[in-house]
Amino acid sequence: MIQKPKGTYDVYGDYSKKIKYFEKLINSLMEKYNYEYIRTPLFESSDLFHRGVGETSDIVTKETYDFKDKGDRNLTLRPEGTAGVVRSFIENKMYSNSLLNKFWYYGPMYRYERPQKGRYREFYQFGVEAFGSSDPMMDAEVISIPVNLFKLLGLKEITVHINTLGDIESRNNYREALKKHFKPYLSELCDDCNNRFLKNPLRILDCKVDCDHSCIKSAPKISEYLNEESKNHFENVKKYLDSMGINYVVDESIVRGLDYYTHTVFEVEAKVEGFGSQNVLCGGGRYNDLVKTLDGPEIPGVGFALGLERLFTALEYENIDISEKINLDVFIIPICEEAKTKAVKYLNVLRMNGFNVDMDFLGRNLKNNLKTLEKINPKFVMIIGEEEINSGVLTLKNNETHEEYKVENENLIYFLDSNIEGE
Ligand code: ATP
Ligand code: MG
Repeated sequence: MIQKPKGTYDVYGDYSKKIKYFEKLINSLMEKYNYEYIRTPLFESSDLFHRGVGETSDIVTKETYDFKDKGDRNLTLRPEGTAGVVRSFIENKMYSNSLLNKFWYYGPMYRYERPQKGRYREFYQFGVEAFGSSDPMMDAEVISIPVNLFKLLGLKEITVHINTLGDIESRNNYREALKKHFKPYLSELCDDCNNRFLKNPLRILDCKVDCDHSCIKSAPKISEYLNEESKNHFENVKKYLDSMGINYVVDESIVRGLDYYTHTVFEVEAKVEGFGSQNVLCGGGRYNDLVKTLDGPEIPGVGFALGLERLFTALEYENIDISEKINLDVFIIPICEEAKTKAVKYLNVLRMNGFNVDMDFLGRNLKNNLKTLEKINPKFVMIIGEEEINSGVLTLKNNETHEEYKVENENLIYFLDSNIEGE
């Protein structure tokens, strides 16, 4: 038997009901925020990720799904959403309206990782990218999105961690300081860190192998290297978060080390025991240089990405059930051959009048149909037999109270409208 690829999962049953609810929620939340939905290809030129995500990131050094197509092009399954959105923003010259451009996306990402709880090879992300404003108000708005989403979902045990990497000048000074600091320890650090030392020493602070080494704890802090402008930006982000009533902790260990991050970086953590580093539900930050790095104009941006699977685990941990129940209004049971014609007619008419309707397609007898009604759980059962066909009066039964109603053909919609509460 052929099985699903390692690190992937199928969506059905309760999980599918949760996803449906989640998708509706992000749709409506993003309308409230005035963000536009954007969709980009699942694969892109490999170069895009090398340049856009950062050559020294884990994502690019070891996690991409790369392939050559039949035209000998080097392509990569997208490991994250930002690079594709930025590429599309530039390629389609969306900046030409000189307005603020705010986008949200939702879809599968691919990373060749060791599968475990909260870590898959195909996983879903919901994220946003806001281009055009370097105002710290924008950082605060972006941070407020996952925070408000978690609030709407009822998650309580979450912590927002924020930090700043400063502008390029501050970060370059910090880089030099880190290099000086780590140099004597290089032989004790992992191969990856040795590589990071050369290309992007900030990422050493983010290493999952060496995270307990004392030299990481004793490393210089970015706060000592921020220039006035960078300090100001960060102070304002905090001020706006305070004003929105959003709690956060300043956490200098958050670096998200990608080269393109400037100023604010943040992560939202949940509390799931035994979940390890998978407790990080979402991460993001400001990237004032990314659009330019990908050959676009100098336009600042800020965004975040949130992993669905981890969010769902956190919800489970807090016993929050978001699965959306489908409420069936009517279930139709034709009990003779002739009644089928009428049954399919009402099936169609009622659906087009806005009711959720299904019928017995299995040709079961009345007794067997009634037995499964508890599972199907419609508000009304409509039984059509010879009597109903001849009299033009329909029999409807309230599935909960078992009360029976006789309804004239032409009054059916009126009857259902007045007996079923609209959404
Ligand atoms: P981690 O440090 O846990 O590997 P990351 O820094 O690689 O995370 P990002 O690239 O910032 O993660 O992605 C944002 C979010 O996407 C993460 O916070 C997480 O919720 C989710 N995510 C990342 N990788 C995976 C994965 N392999 N499986 C499931 N979710 C993932
Ligand atoms: Mg990762």
